[in-house]
Amino acid sequence: MMLKDRVAVVTGASRGIGRAIAVELARHGARVVVNYQGSEAAAQETLKLCQGAGGGEHMVKQFDVGNPDQVTATMKELHEACGRLDILVNNAGISRDMLIMRFKNEDWDAVLRTNLSGVFYCSRAVSRYMSKQEFGRIVNVSSIVGQMGNAGQVAYSAAKAGIIGMTKTLAKELAKRKVTVNAVAPGFIKTDMTAALKEEMVQMAQMAIPMGELGTPEDIAPGVAFLCSDGARYITGQVLAINGGLYM
Ligand code: NAP
Repeated sequence: MMLKDRVAVVTGASRGIGRAIAVELARHGARVVVNYQGSEAAAQETLKLCQGAGGGEHMVKQFDVGNPDQVTATMKELHEACGRLDILVNNAGISRDMLIMRFKNEDWDAVLRTNLSGVFYCSRAVSRYMSKQEFGRIVNVSSIVGQMGNAGQVAYSAAKAGIIGMTKTLAKELAKRKVTVNAVAPGFIKTDMTAALKEEMVQMAQMAIPMGELGTPEDIAPGVAFLCSDGARYITGQVLAINGGLYM
């Protein structure tokens, strides 16, 4: 039970990678807050899976990571209710894909707001509690696309690369308070996000991946749980690539 008595907030945990992370943290004994934006029924399903996996008194919390006032108020409320906040997994994300010449301002703003500002708002809100208690683990979900770029994903790749810069800066700012900040960079993972890809794109990706297949959310979750554990206390500012060898 490497996360026993830890309180963990996982953003965007109603489905996909966030759900797998929430369940994995629960399996290791954490008390998990399952965040979602619109999919309440799916979030309740994640809650049930967490309850089945173990850990403390899990709960569901709706908030928009891109709304700074909502984020600050919710983290304060959670800190009051749970007495501490130990782990934040910044997983919530969206994608809007289009070549740059057709890319609309509102799509740029939406992607940056959720995928980059959301990480900033949530990390800022918890850092005061983590610093005070002199323990914290922040894990940011970046992407292989933030490391190597991808045609058609100008906003998404900019946000995911921005997360890596933010991770390193926060790691330096919070290290003295024993708060570690790391990122994971998943490759192509089977979720609702990649279900929108054309079949030929998936086949091309599969051919390019040395391990020959797309990953699953369950391939990402153990790496995140490790970065949240006591065993990772001396690891900060790092980007853990989980991509079947697609980018090294
Ligand atoms: P997904 O299946 O589309 O799930 C996205 C999650 O984010 C949902 O739980 C959604 O909540 C939540 N969300 C979206 N906007 C939100 C907001 N403003 N506030 C709070 N929650 C919000 O996506 P996924 O594939 O699991 O991706 C999870 C993370 O991994 C994302 O950051 C993504 O960029 C990253 N990633 C994915 C892949 C991949 O191949 N799938 C690869 C690299 C990185 P609702 O259900 O309530 O809308």
